[in-house]
Amino acid sequence: MKIAIFDADLIGREKHRFPNLACEKISGYWKEKGATVELCTIFPDINEWKTWKKRYNEIYISKVFTDTPVPNYIKESKHVHMGGTGFYFDKAPDLPYEIEHHMPDYNLYNEWIENEVKLARESSEINGKTFNEKRFRGQFKEYTDYSIGFITRGCFRKCPFCVNQKFDHVFPHSALEEFYDPSRKKLCFLDDNFMGYPKWRELFSEIMATGKSFKFKQGLDERLLTDEKAKLFFEANYDGDYTFAFDNIADYELIHKKLEIIAKYNTRRKSVKFYVLVAFESTDEKDIENAFKRIELLFHYRCLPYIMRYMNKNDTPWKRSKYRSLYVTLARWCNQPSIVKKMTFREFCLANQALHKTSGSYCSSMKGLLEFENEFPEIAKKYFDLRFGEKNPKFS
Ligand code: SF4
Repeated sequence: MKIAIFDADLIGREKHRFPNLACEKISGYWKEKGATVELCTIFPDINEWKTWKKRYNEIYISKVFTDTPVPNYIKESKHVHMGGTGFYFDKAPDLPYEIEHHMPDYNLYNEWIENEVKLARESSEINGKTFNEKRFRGQFKEYTDYSIGFITRGCFRKCPFCVNQKFDHVFPHSALEEFYDPSRKKLCFLDDNFMGYPKWRELFSEIMATGKSFKFKQGLDERLLTDEKAKLFFEANYDGDYTFAFDNIADYELIHKKLEIIAKYNTRRKSVKFYVLVAFESTDEKDIENAFKRIELLFHYRCLPYIMRYMNKNDTPWKRSKYRSLYVTLARWCNQPSIVKKMTFREFCLANQALHKTSGSYCSSMKGLLEFENEFPEIAKKYFDLRFGEKNPKFS
């Protein structure tokens, strides 16, 4: 048996660096059956495709992101299986039970990683540069260091912008031992809403018993944070940033209260990040103002905003907005922690302008800022000079 697996996001997204769990499970399942499994890192061209695919018994193509390109001559058929939210958004069919609950093949990407390292080393040699292999390998840590899985699945909130629409509650999904490889340093959970599971304490104890550092990659539900949860999570050996979401301005007061809880228990001053969804309800000045209003609150509590520009499989509304360049600049400013911690929004635009090569004109960031400020001076006055971590008398 010969199995081909395409992780379309790996092929089609330049800086994509996260393993596709479905691909790893498919690989694990087939390898156990004695099949030869190949991770394909390019799509064959249209002429090759017909003959190429005959070499394999089964071909799997998976993608997570809707805007990842996949050649249109590649179609689902008896032996060509296409899956994932990138193809089907909230209607993505489940993997067959025996694959879904199979131990992932954490070695699926090994050959690709070694090849990337080899190419980078050769390129450094040709260009007479020093190659720092350890540093270069750091970008593959999600492939090499983590056991990955869903300890719970489902969510009851049904946020209209979210792919998680299938269930109306949170339930246990994979037992830890189903995907836990003790030889790996860390654990990464992809749960939709771990804090929404009524028996979260039991699972939390299991996680703690491994002694491994862990993270919830998709973020945690801030609205469900209690003193008990905050104490346990902030005392734990948590890996990297604590990530929550502040998607809706309607949650403003509730999130404000929860930020107080975080401030109380985050005594080690660990980095806390919030996804800030924009361009969903509208793409007008109100949406921009709502984004800044959330950023203002987060800055006061030294929490980092991470701008998520809404898109679905058919549409990217912010791209059609009059304030398109402002959305881009907002994301570039917020989503680089080293920058957002140091510069106000205005300073960031001025820094971009300073690098602008064409004299006598404005760069797109500065142009976006000036046009918006001209149209809505009150909003600009309130928010364009906000500084991360500065105590805001409004909240003190
Ligand atoms: S709370 Fe999170 S996981 Fe649940 S529906 Fe909303 S965005 Fe999706």
